Amino acid sequence: MLLSDTPAVPAGPAAGPAAAARWVVHKFGGSSLADAGCFRRVAGIALDLGEPRVALVLSACRGVTDALISLVTAAEGARLDTCRASLARLETRHVEIAAELLGPVERQAFLGSLQSDIGDLERLLHAVALVRSAGRDIRDRVAGFGELWSSRLFAAFLRARDPGRAVRWLDAREVIAVEWGPLGPGVQWSASRENAARLIAPDEAGVLVIPGFVASDTRGLQTTLGRNGSDFSASIFGALLGAREIVIWTDVSGVLSADPGQVPDAKVIGSLSYNEAMELAYFGAKVIHPQTMAPAVEQDIPIRIRNTFAPSDAGTTIVAAPEPGEQVKGITSIRDVALVNLEGAGMIGVPGTAHRLFGALHEAGISVILISQGSSEHSICFAVPAGQATLAERAVRRAFAAELQGGQIQSVAVDSGCAIIAVVGDGMAHHHGIAGKLFQAFGQAGINLRAIAQGASQRNISAVIDGKETSRALRAVHAAFYLSPHTLSIGLVGPGTIGSVLLEQLASQSERLRRDFKLDLRVRGIATSRRMLLAEQAIDLADWRAHLDRAGEPLDLDRFTAHVAAEHLPHRVMIDCTADAHIAARYADWLRAGLHVVTPNKKANSAPLTEFRRMHEARRAAGTQYFYEATVGAGLPIILTVRDLRETGDRIREIEGILSGTLAYLFNVFDGKVPFSEVVKDAKARGLTEPDPRDDLSGRDVARKLVILGREMGLALELDDVEVESLVPAALRDCSIVEFLERLPDGDAAMNSRLAEARHDGQVLRYVARLTAAGKATVALERLGAGHAFANIALTDNVVRFVTDRYCDNALVVQGPGAGPAVTAAGVFSDLLRLASGIGARI
Ligand code: ADP
Ligand code: ASP
Ligand code: MG
Repeated sequence: MLLSDTPAVPAGPAAGPAAAARWVVHKFGGSSLADAGCFRRVAGIALDLGEPRVALVLSACRGVTDALISLVTAAEGARLDTCRASLARLETRHVEIAAELLGPVERQAFLGSLQSDIGDLERLLHAVALVRSAGRDIRDRVAGFGELWSSRLFAAFLRARDPGRAVRWLDAREVIAVEWGPLGPGVQWSASRENAARLIAPDEAGVLVIPGFVASDTRGLQTTLGRNGSDFSASIFGALLGAREIVIWTDVSGVLSADPGQVPDAKVIGSLSYNEAMELAYFGAKVIHPQTMAPAVEQDIPIRIRNTFAPSDAGTTIVAAPEPGEQVKGITSIRDVALVNLEGAGMIGVPGTAHRLFGALHEAGISVILISQGSSEHSICFAVPAGQATLAERAVRRAFAAELQGGQIQSVAVDSGCAIIAVVGDGMAHHHGIAGKLFQAFGQAGINLRAIAQGASQRNISAVIDGKETSRALRAVHAAFYLSPHTLSIGLVGPGTIGSVLLEQLASQSERLRRDFKLDLRVRGIATSRRMLLAEQAIDLADWRAHLDRAGEPLDLDRFTAHVAAEHLPHRVMIDCTADAHIAARYADWLRAGLHVVTPNKKANSAPLTEFRRMHEARRAAGTQYFYEATVGAGLPIILTVRDLRETGDRIREIEGILSGTLAYLFNVFDGKVPFSEVVKDAKARGLTEPDPRDDLSGRDVARKLVILGREMGLALELDDVEVESLVPAALRDCSIVEFLERLPDGDAAMNSRLAEARHDGQVLRYVARLTAAGKATVALERLGAGHAFANIALTDNVVRFVTDRYCDNALVVQGPGAGPAVTAAGVFSDLLRLASGIGARI
């Protein structure tokens, strides 16, 4: 990794009045100077400072530098009409601010200088249009006008606001001398110091208003300090004046742990070391310019970042040795990066390859952002700004033309469209586990790493990723280091009996989960069989039904999926609360596309083995997760038990169980006094059966659960392999529900006699599922001794007995309510939390 250059620093503070207070430099960025209201606010802050010696360094008004630079581009294209129009807009903007802020006399003076500058600009642009090209000196000359205008205007305004105060406009071009070199602007410290001494009297006090960004080159012509260079101006003046402090005022309350535009939960970092601030700035934290640090470091001047729009906020303090804080202070990104990879066996053990490579890049004037080489020396890769990718490739191919021809180097591959993510913190040095946590966060968010680099300072670990995944990566890493909550983007399909209860449970717990575990569960989509409701942030769960009625749209599952899979959110999950095979058929695609799946729907796990395996292959390939505890025994830990037994090396010999809450209830209640058909009708009336009770009585549902358990044990079991005794008389299998219920009493006599026979032998009737390690699977109405564990269960209890190598004399039994919306939804909820803890939430 290359750091930006460290500018030369002066030998010591500028001569200052020994007795008087030291200068304080305050810099206000363009974001603080958008309009007349902003000027008033900034003047208010400046006048309230209560400091006797204040240097105010000002940027151009917001957007003005960009507009000026576009003028040059337009002139190069000979689009003089465009130039004239945007010049007029720039002029009007400043005239309007002046009209609001200045009295007639000051206004006249300001407008005089403004119009003369506009005249100069017109002539310059005209010249550019004639030759159709502009060199850096012309660009810099044009770009710097914004600072001249804003600072002149502000000085006049401040003078008028407080006539008692000495306010002087100081032309930075007469003070800061720079020489542009390959590493950017190099400050000519001795010349600048001489200039300062000449122009600022040792005992001068009051307010100096200084244009930022502008400086003079060695020929005395106007130049700039590079984009965002006003921060640098402030620190140069800080050094020249021997300032006590440099304050950078902007539109955020300090340096944040990540770019707030990408990570909304980013928080203000209280204090940073110069080195940390430097790394953050270099790796894209736009809030401060990286070169700003050098002059401040040399003289140990603290830098503070404060918010013009919230002046009472504490802000960020940047000093040499801050209070110890988090190991990782912040995370940044650089977009539009190209990764160039040079590969070939011919490089192994050959000294000087890197020298030649980077020499060639240097000659081509390309700045390398990151370098990574494996110790095998078989390949070497580096990152450059995407705009220089073609240039870089050409330079490398030229430098290694012979090796490419001779086959010692096989390939030079360029991948544009990458981004770099960097985590920064002094505390990372000498601590283990940081890189592990970082890479785990990338892995869990399904983000592929193209290259990584850690400097020996251990203050920065950088990773190159696909540029499209930048926001998601930033958020995942930010959450992994507990700088923000782990966010799950949730799509819920099927807000029916179970789904709607789950939504209630989520609503009641989400605040606590956010507070206690930094887990942010965001239901961003709800889909019924016909309609869907989507929300950018999160659906208000207290009111989702009304929202769905009001703002719902026709269901489009592809769009629903794309919405839940939002690029910027690192973790996404689909919760399927339907019993629909068509929805289950989508799991493979979801899992493949990076969505986790949580469900109580049995259809996917009992689908034909080929489909089932395809789904798991998709899951494995994408590294996503699939949870389905609630498919068997609702919230009871049955799948978990099978898995634990298996993973700890136990062998399940046999599973037997009552796996249907409905059938458990029917045979708990059926005592021969009331006909079986009446018991069924009564259960249906209580909502304990499926709408069509045959779905329960057929035993198919129980068979599905047995298949799920069997596959969990590792058996290749198909639904048709299960021998099922259906309790639906053959004649009633295909008729309507009404007819079925009408004719159900036809079977009462047979059922009564089965019960009587069992009772005669001191036994009870139970609908039992059995599975052996050999794969024999049966579901049938059985007679069990009154002392059997299954004979004495309550109402809708499920019960499962596991006979294993370890639990052989005394089986392991899991028992409890195994049906009902509340316990089933809770089973899904706990799967969701298991998923969250798998992606790093501390639950
Ligand atoms: P100014 O005009 O005051 O110089 P800039 O626009 O140059 O302001 O920089 C401030 C902006 O930097 C903020 O509004 C914020 O969006 C962006 N930014 C990017 N990364 C960070 C970060 N890590 N901390 C704070 N702000 C950041
Ligand atoms: N106005 C200049 C720019 O936009 C300098 C600055 O604001 O820091 O690059
Ligand atoms: Mg800035």
